[in-house]
Amino acid sequence: MKVVVDEDLCEGHGKCEAAAPEVFELGDDDLSHVLVDDVPEELRAKVENAIRLCPRQAIRWAETS
Ligand code: SF4
Repeated sequence: MKVVVDEDLCEGHGKCEAAAPEVFELGDDDLSHVLVDDVPEELRAKVENAIRLCPRQAIRWAETS
């Protein structure tokens, strides 16, 4: 599963990084960057948590074809 951050919505609160530091990293640009291309099963719950915690609803699962 691939997860994406909408850079137009992200305001750099960093809640995603706190919830799943293996997957999200706040950059110098104050935007959250996704560190992994394919989220492993064991990190899925952490990402779900990050999605819930993001105050901007900027994180979502991407459709994979
Ligand atoms: S929690 Fe949401 S708004 Fe905050 S840095 Fe992460 S993606 Fe951006």
